[in-house]
Amino acid sequence: MADCIFCRIVSGGLPAAKVLETPRVLAFLDIAPVNYGHTLVIPKEHHENLLDLPDDLWTEIGRVSRQVARALQKALYARGFNIGMNNFEAAGQEVFHAHVHVIPRHTHDGLQLFPQGVYQPGDMEKVGLQLRQALGGR
Ligand code: AMP
Ligand code: ZN
Repeated sequence: MADCIFCRIVSGGLPAAKVLETPRVLAFLDIAPVNYGHTLVIPKEHHENLLDLPDDLWTEIGRVSRQVARALQKALYARGFNIGMNNFEAAGQEVFHAHVHVIPRHTHDGLQLFPQGVYQPGDMEKVGLQLRQALGGR
């Protein structure tokens, strides 16, 4: 897509610090890293989000994400890593070309994960039922 910045990176129209490329997937450094080495893994074809990705392409993105994670451990001495993906505007997606964030983590690096809450009494059972029904179960 002409007006998609990640498609422009794939086609070479925009520069990027590429770290790994396969025939269908590209990994490059996020321009605004959470930690040094923060990498984005994208399909070369334009798909907007996880729900649009063909299964085999999602599998390939997972494989490349794992390779990147191992490289972050080896080259940058990451002690761990987070895998993240923002899907749709409500979840904070800003670039509408599917991408997985591979974020290297270090002990006591100060990053906070999502704040967590509690279910009101009975709600956990209700929500579980709603999801099972949506998934075709009971
Ligand atoms: P999100 O859509 O919220 O998952 O975020 C998009 C990510 O793309 C952000 O972390 C940006 O820093 C990153 N980003 C945007 N433009 C570029 C670019 N030209 N090169 C590398 N990373 C980018
Ligand atoms: Zn695109």
